Amino acid sequence: MAIIVQKFGGTSVADAEKIQRAARRAKKRADQGYQVVMVTSARGKMTDHLIADALELNPDPCRREMDQLLSTGEQQTVALMAMALHSMGQPAISMTGFQAGIRTDAVPAKARITNIEREKIQAQLDDGKIVVVAGFQGIDEYENITTLGRGGSDTSAVALAAALEAEQCEIYTDVDGVYTTDPRKFKRALKIDQISYDEMLEMASLGAGVMHGRAIEFGKKYGVTIHVRSSSKEIEGTLITHEVPKMEGILVSGATIQKDLAKITIIEIENHPGIAARIFANLAKARVSVNDIIQTEISEDIANLSFTVGKSDLADAMKCIKKIKSDVNYKDMFVREDIAEVSIVGIGMRTHYGVADKMFNALAQKQVNIDSITTSEIRISCIIDKDQGDMALETLCTVFELDKEPEDREM
Ligand code: ASP
Ligand code: MG
Repeated sequence: MAIIVQKFGGTSVADAEKIQRAARRAKKRADQGYQVVMVTSARGKMTDHLIADALELNPDPCRREMDQLLSTGEQQTVALMAMALHSMGQPAISMTGFQAGIRTDAVPAKARITNIEREKIQAQLDDGKIVVVAGFQGIDEYENITTLGRGGSDTSAVALAAALEAEQCEIYTDVDGVYTTDPRKFKRALKIDQISYDEMLEMASLGAGVMHGRAIEFGKKYGVTIHVRSSSKEIEGTLITHEVPKMEGILVSGATIQKDLAKITIIEIENHPGIAARIFANLAKARVSVNDIIQTEISEDIANLSFTVGKSDLADAMKCIKKIKSDVNYKDMFVREDIAEVSIVGIGMRTHYGVADKMFNALAQKQVNIDSITTSEIRISCIIDKDQGDMALETLCTVFELDKEPEDREM
């Protein structure tokens, strides 16, 4: 029998009515003959409330106990969901990560799923039940409860879909799907019918926020078709899949903007082997996660190095760079916080030329100065002044016709 995994995020299970709505959606699939696994998040802002409770008692709570606490949010939802299904006459059973055999490494608060014991869930499915699994959690080799990082229920769902070889992993959320850009910033943004894992990964890392990046990595690795769709409307959402030939014709699939960034430039570091390695080893030790890195050789002996970090990591990053001043022997450090990064993403860029040119021209015409540029095979990002950010995004969306269906675009 075909298996379908349905994941419901916090806002989609926030109250009794929404839990019933989710239960009805799952039951409908079961009535169609699917074996259904539901994965749910904690209700509404429950995880935030639990974190606040913890911090009230201890400003630096032990990570193990934090995971023990946070996992209870999801445990409530699954039990309530099973009860809602029962009241509709639908056999169902809830399972914590532990009960479902979701094994992780022993890194509290950021655990990675290492293995899922498929038989435990399969036995319940074969018994005719909908299985409701707590997202965001698992168990390590010492039987500690672990959590997967904020937003981690997406990853639980996709990993379960992979382990169970499900036909599809449906991600139910409060938006209709993935849009060409954030519809709150560009009203004419359109829903994308189908997007590749690689494009979605770029968009997620650029702050598109629809899905947990690691979930998409899982999907790509195991070939899980992911369907991001609305929990309130019965309409098709966005399919995240392997590349199909027709996608290549689309030059630019989406555009993003990130404003919570800061850029650190270290002036005149020694241009010798091992300097960059030492800088980034220290940043890693300080748990600073670095985005784009640009190093430029100035002369045989000196180079400049810039990188961007999330604003929340800026203080740690600056402290770290100051600490190693005498070690790496740089002249000065500059920080810019008034920046935004606008990006365009599309797998068509691999095979078409002229995309960068078009992007830079469009920005130039609007008098937007580009501070720095970084690229991947399928992405171009520009750092610009923050107060021009929204205007620049709108300009790029218009130029790359992100308000038109792909077949209607002129490019
Ligand atoms: N409840 C967790 C969180 O809020 C996990 C999730 O929602 O995916 O981060
Ligand atoms: Mg959530």
